[in-house]
Amino acid sequence: MKWQALGIGLAGLAFAGPLSAQDAEPTIEMWRLDCGTIELSDTGPFSDAHLYDGEPRTLTDSCYLIRNGDRYLLWDTGLPAALKGTSMTQGVFTVSIERTIVEQLGDLELSPSDISFVGLSHYHDDHIGQAADFPGATLLMSANDIAAIRDRPIESAAQQLAPWISGGGAIADFSRDHDVFGDGRVTIVATPGHTPGHSALLVRLPETGDVLLSGDLYHFREQIENRGVPQFNTDRADTLASMERFMQIDEALEAIIVIQHDPGDIERLPAFPEAAR
Ligand SMILES: [Zn+2]
Repeated sequence: MKWQALGIGLAGLAFAGPLSAQDAEPTIEMWRLDCGTIELSDTGPFSDAHLYDGEPRTLTDSCYLIRNGDRYLLWDTGLPAALKGTSMTQGVFTVSIERTIVEQLGDLELSPSDISFVGLSHYHDDHIGQAADFPGATLLMSANDIAAIRDRPIESAAQQLAPWISGGGAIADFSRDHDVFGDGRVTIVATPGHTPGHSALLVRLPETGDVLLSGDLYHFREQIENRGVPQFNTDRADTLASMERFMQIDEALEAIIVIQHDPGDIERLPAFPEAAR
């Protein structure tokens, strides 16, 4: 029976003829979304070696939408939508957002149900804030960060990711690298240290080339030069090893690094609603 079924399948393919030019076109593209702003009154906490003490700094909070055929991955979900029209200050951080992810998806005529995967680089509040607006998506987050949320426990992350942590939503199970679409075009790259399961993202675009989205392995360019490790990272040695791996990948592929919180860096990609292809 199996052979018969295969024979019919092959015959069907032969009649279908060669793929049309449109089918053969690469269908992968990536938009960067505005997911908020973070004003730092002091960058000191971003180095455990006093590299940035007393320096004020503006960070951006960027998210990414990647289309591969008819499937969409949302990479990181920024600050909570409730911050729109207001701001919140906690310690050295003042956070705000101008537009929600759902509003920006609307510009592309997409709705939350179009998103197949929500990928999160890690469980910090400035990356998971709007994830719950996509409860039908499969959550892509390292099992090491899922375990930390459940076992440590991390209450704010458990609440913001309730559709998956307690609500039975689909979670892909991986703790190292993960091939998002199964075709090697978009890979979650294990880069632990900022959190136990912190991840970066490699996106292989046909025209732009390979792009490495940093997650929070780095927050701004100087950290590449002087290997600044934030005081609040969970593991310094893991962070340095992850930085080494990330830079090796970058060199081998001659990839474009985009540090997600660096306002200058994100301009390496086109401004929304234009897409990188
Ligand atoms: Zn962050």
